Amino acid sequence: MTTAVKPLLGRKRPIPAHVAVYAFVIIPFLALLAAVPIAWGWGLAWLDIILAVAFYAVTCLGATVGFHRYFTHGAFKASRALRIGLAVVGTMAVQGPILHWVADHRRHHAFADKEGDPHSPWLFGTGPVALARGFWHAHLGWVLERDLTNQERFAPDLLADRDIRIIHRLFGPLTIVTLLSPALLGGLISWSWQGALTAFFWAGLVRVTALHHVTWSVNSVCHMIGERPFAARDRSANFWPLAILSMGESWHNLHHADPTSARHGVLRGQIDISARLIWVFEKLGWAWDVRWPTPERLARISAAPA
Ligand SMILES: [Zn+2]
Ligand SMILES: [Zn+2]
Repeated sequence: MTTAVKPLLGRKRPIPAHVAVYAFVIIPFLALLAAVPIAWGWGLAWLDIILAVAFYAVTCLGATVGFHRYFTHGAFKASRALRIGLAVVGTMAVQGPILHWVADHRRHHAFADKEGDPHSPWLFGTGPVALARGFWHAHLGWVLERDLTNQERFAPDLLADRDIRIIHRLFGPLTIVTLLSPALLGGLISWSWQGALTAFFWAGLVRVTALHHVTWSVNSVCHMIGERPFAARDRSANFWPLAILSMGESWHNLHHADPTSARHGVLRGQIDISARLIWVFEKLGWAWDVRWPTPERLARISAAPA
């Protein structure tokens, strides 16, 4: 019997990478704080808004459809080209290299809201101070810790894939691409340095930080506030105000009740843009074996009526 359970944590994050995490969390956030007064003064063109929305949508879907529903949970199968595309575009959401992201998130589901969950808001108690601390930890505090999830235990399938190992190592260059390509487009389209600068600010820095906080809100808010129509073993909740911005990820109670489902917004009126994109991929023949919700599956996970 040599089936010893692999440890939860792998090596610690190296110091240069750790400094980079602080820089990439804090600099875009300062940019967002500076954004409002600047918007009133100078430098917000329609082009900046269009570029920011486009880069937000594409990189957010890379994280939600790619990193989350496909790589972490296997909600569908994909052609090699789609697999590589999703890994690259998901990396451009600047939420950490793919192997870290997937290992952390699988650990979150394995221990949801219990000891071992990397980002549960419920690990410190239920008093007001403990909840404030829990919210901070779940939203951002956990990102700033040096402990890394053990990839051998939580992501052996991706570690075995050469394409994924290469894209994992390209996190740094792809971060530069995601920040500078809006500037390049803004400069070329407006044919001005000012256009390049404002596009860099809005569609680069502000877009990245807005997406950071929406994603982190799924970890923090969606484990604290909202409705729980499905029987999950944790405190996950459906929080409707974030449905559009999170591309369907804030239907988080359904997600924890049925993690491999390709659609999270399964009830009437629950908009789920990520699920719609998977549907498009399926129609194009790039994705197959999609785990769409079925009435039987939903009946099994519906919470018992109160
Ligand atoms: Zn969760
Ligand atoms: Zn998940």
